[in-house]
Amino acid sequence: MSSAQVALLPSVQQFLDRQHGLFIDGAQQAAQSEKRLTVWDPATGKAIATTADANTADVDRAVMSAWRAFVSRSWAGRTPAERERILLRFADLVEQNGEELAQLETLEQGKSINISRAFEVGCTLNWMRYTAGLTTKISGRTLDVSIPFPPGARYQAWTKKEPVGVVAGIVPWNFPLMIGMWKVMPALAAGCSIVIKPSETTPLTLLRVAELAIEAGVPEGVFNVVTGSGAECGAALTSHPHVAKVSFTGSTATGKQIARVAADRLTRVTLELGGKNPAIVLNYRRCKPIA
Ligand code: NAD
Repeated sequence: MSSAQVALLPSVQQFLDRQHGLFIDGAQQAAQSEKRLTVWDPATGKAIATTADANTADVDRAVMSAWRAFVSRSWAGRTPAERERILLRFADLVEQNGEELAQLETLEQGKSINISRAFEVGCTLNWMRYTAGLTTKISGRTLDVSIPFPPGARYQAWTKKEPVGVVAGIVPWNFPLMIGMWKVMPALAAGCSIVIKPSETTPLTLLRVAELAIEAGVPEGVFNVVTGSGAECGAALTSHPHVAKVSFTGSTATGKQIARVAADRLTRVTLELGGKNPAIVLNYRRCKPIA
């Protein structure tokens, strides 16, 4: 079933009709950039919404919001059990709004509504609850250290895992919600704050899910969304001095650029890059029946 065959929920149409800004400090805010990006429904070729095309100053505003939230310890300072409860509530809200998210995904991305319901929403929910549970299972190690001085001395060392700070997440167009939440949830579980940039062609579900995070109790500034081009918005995000970790999924060519920027700044980076899968398009009308 494609977008053309789905009876749209009123809330979906209302969301499409909004003048979308950037999600910063816990709310949608107008971008400084006046440029807009059009979101198209690939099934019908129709324009369905517009979003902000964030510039470098907009990205700076989002990263500084995430940075302020991190250093205030409004999230990192909560106990693991408190963070877990909020993240489980967040998953419940995604489930309650699952049909709306599935419809938005099918509209902007073009995949069948059944795939949106099962993968984008269903798999995302499993992942959200799994990672919420990890919040209370982050632990370090105790090490028996062998230093032969003074003779007979015994030492112990211990490790503790700490949130690194602001995470930048860069997401491709194929599974916008699911891959987006692959980045958001571990960052939040660890106590980090995040600025996430969806693909310019599929920005809607992450903008909506950020509102649900706030409704669940994630503090303002911990979960920010910037929409815009890779060349300006993406590049400004991955090279920002207050970003401590970059998590990228996308093409190999873009991944190489991001790796160079990360190496220059010694930023932690995870790259999940494009494959080489062939796409075979079959037109059954032209196939001759096998005798
Ligand atoms: P892409 O690399 O063009 O874009 C991915 C994201 O990077 C987008 O949000 C884009 O705006 C941003 N971006 C572009 N230039 C940037 C820059 N200089 N700095 C920072 N961000 C920048 O890829 P795409 O076409 O959107 O996604 C499809 C690719 O992703 C395919 O190659 C696919 O194989 C790959 N992919 C791989 C996996 C995996 O599991 N390994 C999963 C999903 C997608």
